[in-house]
Amino acid sequence: MVDRISPRIIPINNTAGALAAIPAVLQKANSETVDLRQRQLRDLRISVTDRCNFRCTYCMPKSVFDQNYPYLAQDALLRFEEITRMTQIFASLGVEKIRLTGGEPLLRKNLESLVAMLAQVSTPTGQKLDLTLTTNGSLLRKKAQLLKNAGLQRITISLDALSDAVFKTMNDVEFAVGDVLDGIEAAKEVGFESIKVNMVVKKGINDHEILPMAQHFRNSGITLRFIEFMDVGTSNGWNMAEVLPSQAVIKQIDAVFPLQSLEPNYLGEVAQRWRYADGAGEIGVISSVTQTFCHTCTRARLSTDGQLFLCLFAHQGVDFKTLLRSGSSDLEIANAIMNTWAKRDDHYSEIRGSHTPTENIAARKVEMSYIGG
Ligand code: SAM
Ligand code: SF4
Ligand code: SF4
Repeated sequence: MVDRISPRIIPINNTAGALAAIPAVLQKANSETVDLRQRQLRDLRISVTDRCNFRCTYCMPKSVFDQNYPYLAQDALLRFEEITRMTQIFASLGVEKIRLTGGEPLLRKNLESLVAMLAQVSTPTGQKLDLTLTTNGSLLRKKAQLLKNAGLQRITISLDALSDAVFKTMNDVEFAVGDVLDGIEAAKEVGFESIKVNMVVKKGINDHEILPMAQHFRNSGITLRFIEFMDVGTSNGWNMAEVLPSQAVIKQIDAVFPLQSLEPNYLGEVAQRWRYADGAGEIGVISSVTQTFCHTCTRARLSTDGQLFLCLFAHQGVDFKTLLRSGSSDLEIANAIMNTWAKRDDHYSEIRGSHTPTENIAARKVEMSYIGG
């Protein structure tokens, strides 16, 4: 491991935007830089908007995200050129996976132009980045082909139920399930390399939809993933009683469609993988509450307005928009990223139970729609 790197260590002249000017020594330093829990920086999630056309009760409940909610102003948002520059710098430091998210990313005007810009970014060894996007699917019929043409490789669509009534209860804006299913169909038609569907499970609200969803996506080539309801932000009224442990999800499905566990695809994969014994495909469970995975967490998040967060449950980010807009060089920004990472000690999910409800850390968490899910 290298020593902690000071923000201004390498006094060479580096111009903004000149990725090649980030010296190999710095790339090597990062490849050896770990946080305080020995984790490397590998993935970046980028929130491109804090707005959404849904009001999922577990994410942006209507009571809080109403017309008075202080959404970011247009000029506070990172511009596409700024997002691309940050991505280039992260890539030069060894980040290979980029996920665009939000809010609802497809609400960001001309998102496909950003995808096209990011598709040009490569790693120091000349590899293309693994570029993906998470969407609620509402605009996918319109956007799927444009995104594919722009170079998007993979896509994840969120869908919490097959029943129209249950889905509308979850999205809380009367959005019809048929339109999301049509968006998923559009994704299939244009031929993304991989399509995943995320279902957040809330006990007593949509857990009776687990089997219909499993049945629907068997044999489709789409991987369905069940996510435990999490206590992100401070507005979703999270309660442990509404969390259905992933083990119970697996048990339910296995009783009808026998399952076999699979090895992870790579170290740090958040979903535990299972395959249908009859060869009908694969499912995953993301057990962020009952089986935490902080020890292998290699993710950073860039908020819509350019704050870098190192944990989904963080209450404070580090301001990179000011660095971007005040003439800092790529090298200075790269150094600042590494310094921030080197001080990281986040492991919220492992200590969730140890906080009392009155503790400030729990009260000040940022919302997921702002830092990106
Ligand atoms: N709007 C897009 C969507 O819904 O796919 C992208 C942003 S959303 C914040 C990203 C993912 O976070 C979605 O799959 C969503 O279901 C999940 N999510 C949001 N709030 C959650 C919560 N409280 N617990 C678990 N997952 C959550
Ligand atoms: Fe919007 Fe996605 Fe949050 Fe639902 S989960 S409110 S679709 S950002
Ligand atoms: Fe990573 Fe934070 Fe989630 Fe732990 S709680 S897995 S550190 S984002």
